[in-house]
Amino acid sequence: MTHIIDGKAIARQLREEIAKETAQLVAKGVTPGLAVVIVGEDPASHVYVKSKATQTVEVGMASFKHVLDEGTSQADLLALIARLNADPVVDGILVQLPLPRQIDAETVLHAILPAKDVDGFHPVNVGQVATGSGGIAPCTPFGAMKLIKSVRSDLAGLHAVVVGRSNIVGKPMVQLLLDEHCTVTVVHSRTQDVAALVRAADIVVAAVGRPEMIRGDWIKPGAIVIDVGINRVITEDGKSRLVGDVAYEEAAKVAAAITPVPGGVGPMTIASLLANTLQAAKARLG
Ligand code: NDP
Repeated sequence: MTHIIDGKAIARQLREEIAKETAQLVAKGVTPGLAVVIVGEDPASHVYVKSKATQTVEVGMASFKHVLDEGTSQADLLALIARLNADPVVDGILVQLPLPRQIDAETVLHAILPAKDVDGFHPVNVGQVATGSGGIAPCTPFGAMKLIKSVRSDLAGLHAVVVGRSNIVGKPMVQLLLDEHCTVTVVHSRTQDVAALVRAADIVVAAVGRPEMIRGDWIKPGAIVIDVGINRVITEDGKSRLVGDVAYEEAAKVAAAITPVPGGVGPMTIASLLANTLQAAKARLG
């Protein structure tokens, strides 16, 4: 029987653990605080920011929301980041992407104090994660790793194939798998014979952004399959639905464990953000 990895349930469990630890910090006089900054009116971004704020409060943390006009200048946004960097009640800062055209996202993300960079995008955190010397890991690979570990705690010696090499998913995922002593292969758009490489994988992490690219006959029997992809497709009857980067029905027949889309990696992302905020607050407490 294929094990369907229930990202919603595992995320709920992670939030419960975070809530317990948050209560312990509050008892010591430290309430972890997460500031979320959103610039402009992008409806999807506002939905994400709302659920981040709701879940932050639900685990007992303080939530600070900063909504800026679409026309906000980069200088004004940087001034807000500087205030949040200096604010002792703010442990984590998240700037919701995408940002309007007049603002350079990299400049803004690099202005966040590494200790408060709960998205794990600052080069200091990237470097620390890469060297295995601590740091804050980006939320999606962090959550994906929790899902893998929910299936199997000891990953040493397993062959993991990561499909995709983006800075926010693929590359940090490689580092986290190496930390678990996996042998890691990274596959990207210039790789020859992706299918053959995926067929050799005990663990497949798909982060490509191509609907159902990874077919069932690419999956090694008994593999763990983690599908990070979120793709909206229009079905033959004209309806819109979300699919991953893995052809789920086919792959589920072969894999030992697999994440569905939706309901797999997606729900873990905000829970991981809260875990990073807790980590930052603990660091504040020393
Ligand atoms: P990017 O577009 O930044 O990266 C995609 C990667 O896939 C690139 O490295 C690219 O290679 C590689 N790729 C593209 N085509 C192929 C191919 N035919 N064969 C092999 N590799 C290929 O995407 P992200 O990493 O940001 O996101 C990936 C997916 O994950 C998307 O569907 C996104 O929506 C989803 N996502 C989900 C999240 C969640 O919370 N669940 C969070 C973040 C992303 P190259 O580098 O050579 O161009």
